[in-house]
Amino acid sequence: GAEVVAWDSDAARRGALSPSPLQGRGPGRGEATNASSGISPLPTLSPEGERAFAFADLETIDLAGFDALVVSPGVPINRHPLAAKARAAGVPIIGDIELFAEARAGLPPHKVVGITGTNGKSTTTALIHHILETAGIPSLMGGNIGLPILEQQPLPEGGVYVLELSSYQIDLTRSLDCDVAVLLNITPDHLDRYKDFSAYRASKLRLFKMMRPPHIGVLNWHVPVGEALYRTLFETHPCEFWSNYDDNVEDPYDLWGAFDEHGQTASRDHLSTQQDWPTLQGPHNAQNAISAILACEALGVPEEVISEALKTFTGLPHRMQRVGVVAGVTYVDDSKATNPESVAPALGAFDRIHWILGGRAKTDDLDACAPYFDRIARAYTIGEAGPRFAEILRPHMAVDESGTLDVAVARAHRAAMPGDTVLLSPACASFDQFRDYEARGDAFRDAVEGLT
Ligand code: ADP
Repeated sequence: GAEVVAWDSDAARRGALSPSPLQGRGPGRGEATNASSGISPLPTLSPEGERAFAFADLETIDLAGFDALVVSPGVPINRHPLAAKARAAGVPIIGDIELFAEARAGLPPHKVVGITGTNGKSTTTALIHHILETAGIPSLMGGNIGLPILEQQPLPEGGVYVLELSSYQIDLTRSLDCDVAVLLNITPDHLDRYKDFSAYRASKLRLFKMMRPPHIGVLNWHVPVGEALYRTLFETHPCEFWSNYDDNVEDPYDLWGAFDEHGQTASRDHLSTQQDWPTLQGPHNAQNAISAILACEALGVPEEVISEALKTFTGLPHRMQRVGVVAGVTYVDDSKATNPESVAPALGAFDRIHWILGGRAKTDDLDACAPYFDRIARAYTIGEAGPRFAEILRPHMAVDESGTLDVAVARAHRAAMPGDTVLLSPACASFDQFRDYEARGDAFRDAVEGLT
């Protein structure tokens, strides 16, 4: 079939369509243009003149004869008309991770670790990458974190590609056989893109279904549905599955029996324990760390190296990151917490909290946070979800309908007493007021810096 590119013409104008380092090494593909599809040949876009791209009108394009439709994970393929058209024409819908998977045969011998889950993916991905670097193993991060995988230079022989995979990315992938695949947890999220929770869960499980023996799956036992998922996979899939597991219980699935849910490492003499890991505090980070430990052991990294790396991990921006202390009040940027489940551990980590929340809500169900309501001195609501959240929270705590982040920071600064924490942990997406969660976190930091 023809290689036809039909997409974002702004990207084309910016010259972003030149062949990528990794793509260029993949199996050869056909020539551009497909006259029968109503696609007009275009001026050559790449400065090297190596490839010509053709552009099509998405309304009228005929997809018959196409190898694949390649989309960004942000495109809602459950309801986009072009996706429906592709399905009707029997054309697979794939993403950049699938292109990477198909190019793997042309790369120097390497391994791939895939990390998925509702929460903790970026932390765990960065941690695995850090452990591998500490071990002197060439490694890079890609997927849902950092630079797109196809824009990065291939690793030398023995390298490990560490890929953070959202369920959207997994949906666009059909042949990624991870050497190690990690599932952190699954709680309801993104239900606008899935029919129901079980469809969302099935999407995550596909990461394991694509895997072939002797490859290894890592699952958390101590999370909702963790044990059930583990048993299902263990019984139905030929790969090996590793899980953290309470070591006092006799069980045939107890392959590793080494960790409890607090990250204690009962039967491991050489591993440090969670109190030695400065940026990995809280039960949720125990979960992330345990998964990273198991994944790195599966890759053959010695326990002493893992132990050392856990102590030197610096963490990621916008995830419970301390951005300043003003007049004895600590300001914490947890802008990445875009759903109530990821806010809960942040609320659990502090005592007298001035909680800034709101934005574009994915849900108005704040039940996951309810156990920590007594730690909140005052809530400051912002963005689209502000009025609704204020209404929900008012019976439980003092609420200030701040509207914007700047106003919330200024008011929290006025109300907070030494020892308190001002926490931006919004439980919402940012798009109503900011470009993305990073811009929201940066705006918070700027506002805090403006206080001094
Ligand atoms: P993701 O990449 O899956 O969005 P991150 O590592 O970026 O996850 O963390 C996002 C937010 O979720 C953090 O601010 C943190 O408070 C919370 N979080 C991190 N790990 C977990 C976990 N294992 N379970 C629940 N919440 C978590």
